[in-house]
Amino acid sequence: MAEFDYDLFVIGAGSGGVRAARVAAAYGARVAVAEEHRVGGTCVIRGCVPKKMLVYGSHFAEDLHDAARYGWELGDIRFDWKTLRDNVNADVDRLEGLYTNTLDNNKVELFHERATVSGPNAVTLAGGRTVSARFILIATGAWPVVPDVPGAEHGITSNEVFYIDELPRRVVIAGAGYIANEFAGIFHALGSKVTVVNRSDQILRGYDEQIRDRLFQISTQKGIEFIFNASFERIEKREDGSLCVHFKDHERCDTDLLLFAIGRSPKTGGLGLEAVGVELNDKGAIVVDEDNRSSVPSIYAVGDVTDRVQLTPVAIREGQAFADTVFGEKPHRVDYGAIPSAVFSNPPMAGVGLTERQAREQFGTVKVFTSDFRAMRNVLAGRTERSLYKLVVHPETDVVLGIHMISPDAPEILQAAAIAVKAGLTKAQFDQTVALHPSMAEELVLMK
Ligand code: NDP
Repeated sequence: MAEFDYDLFVIGAGSGGVRAARVAAAYGARVAVAEEHRVGGTCVIRGCVPKKMLVYGSHFAEDLHDAARYGWELGDIRFDWKTLRDNVNADVDRLEGLYTNTLDNNKVELFHERATVSGPNAVTLAGGRTVSARFILIATGAWPVVPDVPGAEHGITSNEVFYIDELPRRVVIAGAGYIANEFAGIFHALGSKVTVVNRSDQILRGYDEQIRDRLFQISTQKGIEFIFNASFERIEKREDGSLCVHFKDHERCDTDLLLFAIGRSPKTGGLGLEAVGVELNDKGAIVVDEDNRSSVPSIYAVGDVTDRVQLTPVAIREGQAFADTVFGEKPHRVDYGAIPSAVFSNPPMAGVGLTERQAREQFGTVKVFTSDFRAMRNVLAGRTERSLYKLVVHPETDVVLGIHMISPDAPEILQAAAIAVKAGLTKAQFDQTVALHPSMAEELVLMK
């Protein structure tokens, strides 16, 4: 009889957990996964995927408006939130089915219930059953933070935003990071009056300053309102269902929807980790080594629960590296250098490598090349908003250290350009590449 019920028990069927489970199973391991919510996790169910579909949906607002300049007569145009919402959620259901099939096809046993760690090799399911496993992988992700102020329960988070009944007339978004700027763009384009409220005096801390300043300028010009240096005091719900948001240091703000987007914290609460000796950091994240192993040798963790880089493709790579290393005799580690990322704001931003500030801190001086232009499609549409591309270049080696962009299609262009940064190509090699004309991307090889 086997020493353990399973070779691997994964808690959390999100991007990292599903990848680790199916790869380990493909190597012949006996694998089980427990998921208390829906298979697919944040990205597929209540994050990247449905958000991107809402971004697509919201873009039609400007496209239909601009169509007149391109000669189209469209007549009476109406938008129906419920149609978009239900179609998006139907596609999410479809994707959840595909993820579940992937687990089934790889003979991974799925428990649709909460699981907690009850020993270095033991997991207890909500139904009461305890099973043993040679290795346990924690892949429970992160959860939206809600501020500790009276009336906070009247607000929602990105978990609920995909299911709202009506498109709100007014929206207040707390926070000015990824989620806040993405939903500001979506709600504004769909017709809501949007106010973004942040505790600090800036948006998108950590992003290249010039690029995020451009987003702020374009967003303001479009009509999105920003309130900075603001802290919540209480949220009051009125009889008509609307909300009154009271700040400590600003005038109150009336709204129909309050969306908290003030960060996501690792989901480690109540998992029994401390009791078995798994070390957590001051944010509650599981501390792991380069091989994703926690302070308990039989317990590993990947993805947002470790609070390294909160991005789906990184969690997937961590899950893959874990399974290859522990079950596939192909040990390797995730390379965290030059990870591209994007904010699907309107217009979107994307970046890879060092920002100008980071490069200056590291190398003292750097060369910076920029292209500040109006995209052709916007020119004919009569839109004044300008795109900005930026290359950060090493002063001596000429290596391109970072690329940062705000422009229509920036994420699509940046993914390809990130290969050049990852490969350590030089500005001269960018310049040697003939421009593909006319395109927005050609600006990358034309910067002087
Ligand atoms: P972010 O970390 O991007 O931004 C958090 C915002 O909330 C900041 O403006 C921050 O202010 C503010 N804030 C932080 N803590 C508090 C607090 N206690 N009270 C009030 N305000 C606070 O968080 P998001 O929730 O937008 O997103 C979480 C993570 O999810 C992102 O960091 C990203 O890794 C990932 N994500 C990625 C996406 C993508 O790849 N496109 C899309 C969505 C999410 P300050 O200015 O002080 O920093």
